[in-house]
Amino acid sequence: MKNIFRLFVVLMLLVLNLQLFAQGSYALVIHGGSGNISRERMSPEREAAYLAKLSEALEAGEAILKTGGSSMDAVVAAIMILEDSPLFNAGKGAVFNFEGRNELDASIMDGKTLQAGAVAGITNIKNPITAARKVMENSPHVMLTGRGAEQFAFEEGLEAVDPSYFFDQTRWDQYREFLRGNTQLRGITNPDMKMGTVGAVALDLNGNLAAATSTGGMTGKRFGRIGDSPIIGAGTYANNEACAVSATGHGEYFIRNVVAYDIAAQMMYAGKSLEEAANENVLQKLKEQGGNGGIIAVDRHGNVAMPFNTTGMFRGYIKSTGETEVNIFE
Ligand code: ASP
Repeated sequence: MKNIFRLFVVLMLLVLNLQLFAQGSYALVIHGGSGNISRERMSPEREAAYLAKLSEALEAGEAILKTGGSSMDAVVAAIMILEDSPLFNAGKGAVFNFEGRNELDASIMDGKTLQAGAVAGITNIKNPITAARKVMENSPHVMLTGRGAEQFAFEEGLEAVDPSYFFDQTRWDQYREFLRGNTQLRGITNPDMKMGTVGAVALDLNGNLAAATSTGGMTGKRFGRIGDSPIIGAGTYANNEACAVSATGHGEYFIRNVVAYDIAAQMMYAGKSLEEAANENVLQKLKEQGGNGGIIAVDRHGNVAMPFNTTGMFRGYIKSTGETEVNIFE
């Protein structure tokens, strides 16, 4: 009898421990854009620089998650580091539109409240993701564009910069090449010319999911063109019932397929796993249509998915279990 009681106590403790463990998990996944990135064309120095920046963004986000901070704060911290780096097509280092100017898009979504915020076509806010967050938290709206978004961001006290701040010589050279139209793959569908959109999704210790995306769009885009990145449901989506998703790729395809929401919907209504829903969207549906790109996602259990149908996607994740990866190529 005594032994049975002991066994019972041990079992109870085990269950309790497992529960605590399950509650105490966090995960952060980031991307720095997808495209036809080839190992041969990337110098070892450039590859190392990309991997180092991705790791820095993961560490910044993890520092927040580890200490009980919110998934919202973690995704913003990770994205700001990537926006500030000229390596990525977001914030500094954004691609140029047809007129030779930078127009930036960003969005964010809170999986707990289903609140969301977005800005599109902005030219002078240093960190567009912070503007998207302000729209979510301090306005009754979900999306603001152009001058209206900029004025709102100033009123909210966000850091403003001269549009020349976003200039990067490599992006300018890509733009000039685009104008000459003498590349093998012409036009805005050239994935090499827009690589570098950034995104982050996270699960925090309280079980809350968040997703965020920031981009300069696509080289040579018509001025006023808005891609999927600031569109909730297309480039960004988070719902505690399912998952958090951030996309990168040829935006028009992601808009038409409502990719980020579709992945969550497949999980909620069709009972699919994160992996199944993500792979089906990116590796089948988009691929069949010629929609280049990839997504990063995390579900409420901390499962991670990072499928892409291009030859590379700058990406990485870190989990409370200690598992981590940063990678570029297939
Ligand atoms: N999805 C972005 C856009 O279409 C570009 C990218 O992710 O590379 O604006």
